[in-house]
Amino acid sequence: MTGVAGFTDIAEMSSMASTVAPVVFRAGCPDCRARFELAASAIRLAIGASRRTTFYSFTCPECETSVRKPAGERIIELLTGGGVRTLRLHQTV
Ligand SMILES: [Zn+2]
Repeated sequence: MTGVAGFTDIAEMSSMASTVAPVVFRAGCPDCRARFELAASAIRLAIGASRRTTFYSFTCPECETSVRKPAGERIIELLTGGGVRTLRLHQTV
């Protein structure tokens, strides 16, 4: 099973900050189940040719597991809008 259900995917928290603060993303670790906030610099987004190869990844600050999750269009928008480094694995244009 891919544990998609039950776990909150990344959600933008910038609405909580009224000033121009760095965007923080809330994420959860599927391994140790810790929940934490990540700065844009802690996340990497990879955009591949297909949905399978489009994902974001980060390292869990609790257990240091490398977490990789599929990124839908909405998440891509959130992440790129928040200044996350994007890696394009395949050029389509
Ligand atoms: Zn963890």
